[in-house]
Amino acid sequence: MEYEKGGPYPPDQYIRVDAGRLRSFVSEVFVKLGVPKEDADIVADNLVAADLRGIESHGVSRLRRYVDGIKVGAVKTRPDIRIVKEGPVHALVDGDHGLGQPVAYRAMRLAIEKAKENFIGVVGVRNSNHYGIAGYYAKMALDEDLIGISLTNSRPLVAHTGAIGKYIGTNPISIAVPSEREPHFLLDMATSIVTIGAMEVAGRKGLEIPEGWAIDERGEYTKDPKVVIKSGALLPLGGLGELFRGYKGYGLGVAVDILCGVLTGSAWGRSVKNTTEKYSNVGHFFVAINPEGFTSIEEFKKNMEALKQELKSAPRHPKLGRIWIHGEKAWLTERYRLKHGIPIYIKTQEMIRGVAEELGLEPPF
Ligand code: NDP
Repeated sequence: MEYEKGGPYPPDQYIRVDAGRLRSFVSEVFVKLGVPKEDADIVADNLVAADLRGIESHGVSRLRRYVDGIKVGAVKTRPDIRIVKEGPVHALVDGDHGLGQPVAYRAMRLAIEKAKENFIGVVGVRNSNHYGIAGYYAKMALDEDLIGISLTNSRPLVAHTGAIGKYIGTNPISIAVPSEREPHFLLDMATSIVTIGAMEVAGRKGLEIPEGWAIDERGEYTKDPKVVIKSGALLPLGGLGELFRGYKGYGLGVAVDILCGVLTGSAWGRSVKNTTEKYSNVGHFFVAINPEGFTSIEEFKKNMEALKQELKSAPRHPKLGRIWIHGEKAWLTERYRLKHGIPIYIKTQEMIRGVAEELGLEPPF
């Protein structure tokens, strides 16, 4: 079955670009800015992975912000990433204000090595930056037959239950679990109803957002994404107030902030800054769990397959579409885009050409 998230992607507004071409261009951008090639490749892979998986808000459309972060000196190109504390199953990593992706990549690798040796690896990270999609790192563990958990805090964007204004981040949670066959369970979600990236995408395209996603500075619902960015706030999962249990999303967002910020010694709450501010002090938290510590990997993967099948074969609601597993839409979208290319919106094309010109590079289209 062929499937692509989002869309339609009319050819007068989007061009399709080969993932490999986009990846090499993004890597060239960071190398030109002074980032070591190995790290530039990690950032490029992370951004293009978001686009391949249909997460336009966290893909190459974010390139300008990372470039500006480096240019203003808010993000270091050659950080001294180091392990501050370490035991057999845990570590604390200091990212020295480098790009979030290479810092997070190394921290998750460390968690994976520990889980392979001691069944579990827990790694906290302080003094990092925006790391892109949380699912990228959880999937690193999944690719090695481990369960992966990836959390990060972000700058304040969400009004918690009872409040107005931006107080907590959109603080995502990703959990990836291996099974016998793809697509594997790969939950990757903000703890707010939507991300600020989705507001930026809607703003660029001149679209309204549905009522209930966000509030303005007086606490009233707004459909204008630009108002949300400027003076309003996003709402936690569950929405405004207590009717649909907004306090659950609020609690999840705070829990992520506690593990990523308060526990690691990074910034938390309103003190987390944007990528272009010195220093954002974002914190992350990674866990890798080896199923072999509980059961055999074969048994675990077989039972995961059975769980997915049970969910998929439930009777369908008459008014709703098909039943999906978390990560399934993204997996199908990735397969589609590897074949047909990634759709790049006209304003993102302009931004990319601008970055290329600024740095004296050949644009990817
Ligand atoms: P979505 O709301 O699009 O999706 C959340 C999860 O639900 C995904 O795992 C998705 O799977 C799954 N899903 C979607 N539809 C269904 C369905 N019908 N049945 C079952 N599962 C479904 O994601 P968000 O907008 O919340 O987050 C987008 C991205 O933003 C994430 O990658 C997140 O990590 C990132 N983010 C990053 C932040 C940062 O500071 N670095 C901050 C906040 C978010 P699928 O992927 O297959 O669609």
